Amino acid sequence: MKSNQANMRKGVCKYCGQVRMVTSEALTPQDDVDAFASKECNCLEAQLQRKNDRKYEKAKRNIEIIFKNDPETAEILDMAARKIADDAIDGIAVKCGKMTAKVSGTGKGTIKVTKQEKDESSLED
Ligand SMILES: [Zn+2]
Repeated sequence: MKSNQANMRKGVCKYCGQVRMVTSEALTPQDDVDAFASKECNCLEAQLQRKNDRKYEKAKRNIEIIFKNDPETAEILDMAARKIADDAIDGIAVKCGKMTAKVSGTGKGTIKVTKQEKDESSLED
């Protein structure tokens, strides 16, 4: 049986190791409690992570708007946006037929989402 009773649990910030008391369900895994404590922490690393999370959330929203009819591409771009927000990669381009989708980090600390549709005519012979 699942208990809905809220308890005070000890969560450890995964960045600085600081222990915080957080309210959580008794059956919530310790990892989730720690993740919550990390989110609440005021250490530099946690602040940076929150900044990256906001960057990702904005990019995610823009991807959903631009690629709402193309869930396959949106899924790939979403994954890339997370990596860009964490500074793991600079950007990604996905090609699908005449469409090129791009997600990339900008110098301003934002993430740019682009959809290009090339209407190309070419004749041969
Ligand atoms: Zn911390």
